[in-house]
Parts: sequence; structure tokens; C-alpha cells
Amino acid sequence: MNSKPILVVGGGPAGLAAAHALASVGQRSIVVEKENRLGGAPILSGYAKLVPSGEWARDAIGGMVSRVEGNPLVEVRKGCRIEEFSGGPGDFTARLSDGSTVEAGAAILCTGFTHFDSVNKPEWGFGTFPDVVTTTQVEQMISTGKGIRCPSDGRKPQRVAILLCVGSRDRQIGREWCSKICCTVSCNIAMEIREELPDCHVYIYYMDIRTYGLNETYYWRSQEEFKVKYIKARIAEVTSDGQKLIVKGEDTLVKRPITIPFDMVVHAIGMDPNVDNKTLAPIFGVGLQEHGHIAKGSAYGALGETSRAGVFVAGAATGPETIDDSIAQGKAAAMAAFALVNQKTAVAA
Ligand SMILES: Cc1cc2nc3c(=O)[nH]c(=O)nc-3n(C[C@H](O)[C@H](O)[C@H](O)COP(=O)(O)OP(=O)(O)OC[C@H]3O[C@@H](n4cnc5c(N)ncnc54)[C@H](O)[C@@H]3O)c2cc1C
Ligand code: SF4
Repeated sequence: MNSKPILVVGGGPAGLAAAHALASVGQRSIVVEKENRLGGAPILSGYAKLVPSGEWARDAIGGMVSRVEGNPLVEVRKGCRIEEFSGGPGDFTARLSDGSTVEAGAAILCTGFTHFDSVNKPEWGFGTFPDVVTTTQVEQMISTGKGIRCPSDGRKPQRVAILLCVGSRDRQIGREWCSKICCTVSCNIAMEIREELPDCHVYIYYMDIRTYGLNETYYWRSQEEFKVKYIKARIAEVTSDGQKLIVKGEDTLVKRPITIPFDMVVHAIGMDPNVDNKTLAPIFGVGLQEHGHIAKGSAYGALGETSRAGVFVAGAATGPETIDDSIAQGKAAAMAAFALVNQKTAVAA
């Protein structure tokens, strides 16, 4: 194949899937990843067992990384960003942050999301009390084998509260979207805590439970097999009495104030738009959606199109997505980009 390689920006699940799909049809690609490691959020943030597959992130996504790194049709550039991007479909030029220049027939933006930073929700105690942690920190406790421990003194918690929708579905802080996966991830984490520490009481504070589709099984199993307790509540604040963390709020089912002590409080953090989108959008000449995600050109035409011909997008760069949907989108965008650079007719719906 004589066409120019396809530029894949971002080496997370979406980018890895796109590069692998392109290689499987004999198309060269160049993966440009800003970090010094491929794998995206599941690897960089040290996720433990993924939902819904139950596979360890290091095996599942690690396998995708090795498949790409070992492929002669994929050139990987780590620790690198795109600084300039010019040209048109079939004939783009990109200048990289290491000073080099690459030519590409098309580009696929697989630049993902940024984890919500819980310090933006100060009344819920993160950054003030060391035993208020995030779901990513709990994932790391599990994946490193360290186990569930209170960061303040290393003790095993006897009571854990998981607060859902931290940085999602919160219009007060400009984040009205649902991050899709955090309910299921939290049910899973609750079961893992109960499995490791059978004497620990785990409570999930929720507005609604959105374990959509087949993931509903996580909700029922966590209650029936693992005795996780669910409280429908509006949380007012997380404070401390010097010994325990105190979660205050209103039980919205019985409409009464509730104040419950815990050893550890976990924020189920959501997916923000990638903080880089404000610089990526002008470099690539693509539009952003109202909340700052990369805007899709057409919902039902050639999948993964953006507002600029020859530049495609896939995965959590477009909004909160699961890993399997990000992979599917990476492959779909690869197909559209492949059709373009090889001048096959992309069949629009
Ligand atoms: C706590 C938590 C747990 C989760 N657990 C699960 C789970 O169990 N199962 C599931 O299906 N989903 C889970 N998710 C969602 C999952 O993280 C996403 O679906 C997935 O990471 C999206 O893949 P992606 O490739 O689109 O983006 P990312 O994983 O974000 O990868 C994007 C890549 O692009 C790179 N990048 C970003 N900007 C640039 C730039 N300017 N230049 C170059 N490179 C760049 C990044 O460094 C990164 O490597 C979880 C999310 C959270 C918050
Ligand atoms: S998936 Fe659940 S925790 Fe996450 S934002 Fe949606 S409702 Fe909230």
C-alpha cells in the first residue's frame, strides 16, 4: 500500500484499537502519545479489574499495548505531542514537539478524557481529609496489591462510604453529563472491598443507579451476595469529628437529615473533557461540543468524522465512553480513515 500513514493521536484503548485495526488491513500508522507509556487511563491510572469483563486492566489493555508495540506497521512516538497540523485529506503534515515532522493521509484523535479533580468539590472533603479518596486511588490500592487501607495511618477501614456522581450530573459546577461507567465501577469496588475486608460495612450514596444494560447485575449482586447498603441521598458535606469522617446529607426517600460516621470516603469521580482540547482543537482545526468534548461531524454517516475533512475522532475524546465503546469507535474511525487515504468510497448512511 503506497498511501501515507495515518496519524493516531493518543495511545489509550481507542487509539490502540485504531492502530491495530489499520495494521490488520495492511495500513501504516503513527501513534503519538504524550505520556511515556501507552495504554491510556486504564494503564496510566492503574485500574484494577475492569467492568464488565472482570479482566485485570494490566492484562486486557496491556495485551492491546504489546500487540501494537510489536507491530511493524505501527510507529510509536511516546512522550510527544503535535504542535502544528496542516494540509488536506490524503496529504497532511504534522510537526511534533520533538522537532520532527511527519506526513499523514489522515488523523484520528483518540485523546480521551481527564479525570475529574475532586478538589473542585471542596465541601465533600477531598484534599482536606486524607481518608477521603477517589475511585482511581482505590483501584490503585487493589491493583498494586497494597489492599484497602486508610491513607492517614494504614489501618483497615471498618466503614466505607462511596459517593456517586462526583463531578458528574452536577450543574452547579458546570458538569451536567453522566459519566456512564462510575455506577458499575463503584458497585464492583464495593464488592471488592467486602471481599477483602468481610467485616467492613460499605455504603453507596446515590441519586440514581445507572448500571445500564447487563451491568444491572452488579447492582443486585452487590446487595444480595455482598450486603452492600444503598442510601438514596443528597450529600451536604463531609467533615470530621477528629476520629471519624462524618457524611451529612438528606435521605431523599424518607426526607430526613442523616449523619453517618465512616473511616474512609470514596469519591466516584467522573470523566471531564480532556484539558488539552482547548489547544488540540485549534491545532487540528476541529470544533468542540458545548461542554468542551471534540465535536463529531455526523452521528450516522461515516463514523468518527469531525468538522474537518480527513480528521477523525474516537473514544472518550467525544464524551464519557466505556472501554469497549472506545475500542469500537477506534475501529470505526480507522475504517473511515483507511477508506479516505486509499480513496475507497466511504458509504454514508
Ligand atoms: C475510575 C474509573 C474507572 C473506570 N473503569 C472502567 C472499567 O472498568 N471499564 C470500562 O469499560 N471503562 C472504565 N472507565 C472508563 C475508561 O477509562 C475509558 O472508557 C477509556 O479510558 C477511554 O479510552 P480512550 O482511549 O478514549 O481514552 P484514554 O484512556 O483517556 O486515553 C487517551 C490517551 O491519549 C493521550 N493523550 C491525551 N491528550 C494527548 C495529547 N494532547 N497528545 C498526545 N496524547 C494525548 C493520553 O495520555 C492517553 O494515553 C473508567 C473510568 C474511570 C474514571
Ligand atoms: S454512571 Fe452513575 S455515578 Fe456515574 S455519573 Fe452516571 S449516575 Fe453518576
